[in-house]
Amino acid sequence: MTDRSRIQSDLTDSSIETYAVRGGQIRTAEAEHSEPIFTTSSYVFNSAAEAAARFGGDEPGNIYSRFTNPTVATFEKRLAAMEGAEMAVATSSGMAAILSTVAGLLKSGDHVVCSRSVFGTTNVLFEKYFKKFGIKTTFVDLTNIDVWKSAIEPQTKLLFLETPSNPLGEVADIQSLANLAHEHDALLVVDNCFCTPVLQQPLALGADIVVHSATKYLDGQGRCVGGVVAGRKQEMDEVYGFLRSAGTTMSPFNAWVFLKGLETLSIRMKAHCESALAIATWLESQPHIAKVHYGGLDSHPQHTLAEKQQSGFGGVLSFEVEGGKDAAWTLIDNTRMLSITANLGDTKTTITHPATTTHGRLSDEEKERAGIVPGLVRVSVGLENVEDIKADLLRGIQAIA
Ligand SMILES: *Cc1c(COP(=O)(O)O)cnc(C)c1O
Repeated sequence: MTDRSRIQSDLTDSSIETYAVRGGQIRTAEAEHSEPIFTTSSYVFNSAAEAAARFGGDEPGNIYSRFTNPTVATFEKRLAAMEGAEMAVATSSGMAAILSTVAGLLKSGDHVVCSRSVFGTTNVLFEKYFKKFGIKTTFVDLTNIDVWKSAIEPQTKLLFLETPSNPLGEVADIQSLANLAHEHDALLVVDNCFCTPVLQQPLALGADIVVHSATKYLDGQGRCVGGVVAGRKQEMDEVYGFLRSAGTTMSPFNAWVFLKGLETLSIRMKAHCESALAIATWLESQPHIAKVHYGGLDSHPQHTLAEKQQSGFGGVLSFEVEGGKDAAWTLIDNTRMLSITANLGDTKTTITHPATTTHGRLSDEEKERAGIVPGLVRVSVGLENVEDIKADLLRGIQAIA
């Protein structure tokens, strides 16, 4: 007879779709099919001696949910399997993932080289807060390896980037940057939020650490804020050490929502990619649209690299409207279905004006350098029928005088 209670945490040599559905599950004595949510802050011991052994680290097991929780652990194991990582550490948000990585691994006096085209708050975290604690950051152009090279200092310990970038979809060569980092005994950290492990696996390309905002595609339905860091046990132990002391912990309920999100991630990403490519191609032939930025288009400057490094081009695209900010706002305001929100990676298509929202804090000069022109509009393509999304965008385009 088969063992009906068998658990799935020991899956090996499986494909990513299988890990996404079954990885990391711990089945309890109740033999539940779906993963349970352990909403408990602490755990009980059989004896005072057992409590002492757990606290002393002589015996493995749960103590307190700031440190470990079975639902969170299932999410961590599942995500680690999908990224091809030895270990993952779940965090309360994407920003907490970056904070825990840097705080766990770097110290005062260390230096970071960071892509200029990172999530706005990531920029603030490095530029303002890490600097306060003596960690200096040099910002460089994502796609120019020579500027990365010349930014490296003797104290450089970490290189940080997002690829593809937001909102222009610029692509960095992960393998070359990993080689550069390793020549200087530094770590390469990749924020894999836009691709997810379904479309890109940075660790296989030589990166040391992957960080995610689980808030985006991993949930994929806009419900929870969370994050995760994945990599080798050696570095993850340090990240976890910070987390258990600082409390950048993911809640069990959110971990459960993300687990359910992961189960459909592969099919969602395929659908996001397919619709985004269809819309990007269609936009290129529409009036008042000066330029479309999407890695899947032949016109994209890093199309070949994106094709080599990713197994899909993702769900986010942007385009430049003739007529600047007024025309961009007219287009946005005349759509009826699309959600005007800065969030992305949702089943619902979202539309954003980066120059006055996500990138609003940049000076005009910084915006120009980053390509955030006044007429730029970003769309995170959701899972509605693609013809309905086009029809809604067309309402916006036709409203431009
Ligand atoms: C949203 C986002 C973050 C921050 O994640 P939160 O979950 O909002 O803290 C980091 N990186 C990228 C690329 C993001 O899109």
